[in-house]
Amino acid sequence: MYYFAAWTDSGFLLGCDHQHQTVTSAVACISCAGGYVIAVEDGVLRELNDVEEAEFQLARYGDSRERVLEGIEVIVPAKWSLS
Ligand SMILES: [Zn+2]
Repeated sequence: MYYFAAWTDSGFLLGCDHQHQTVTSAVACISCAGGYVIAVEDGVLRELNDVEEAEFQLARYGDSRERVLEGIEVIVPAKWSLS
C-alpha cells in the first residue's frame, strides 16, 4: 500500500502521482493549504486510520482535520447551487 497527497482545485480532486511509503513524505508533497493525504490499499482509496491521521496532524502541524473538511464542504454546496 502507499499514500499520496491530495487537494482540491476549483472543485476537482487532484493528487500527486507518487507512491509515498509514509504519511509524512506524502504531506511534504502537499502544495497548497487544505491538502490532505489519502491511503491506497490493494488498489482501493481509503481515509487515513487513527494512527495515520495522528501522523498526518503531526506532519502538518497546526492544520486540523476540521479545517480540511470545512474546505471541502464549501465547494460542494457551490456546485449544487448551479442546478
Ligand atoms: Zn507526492
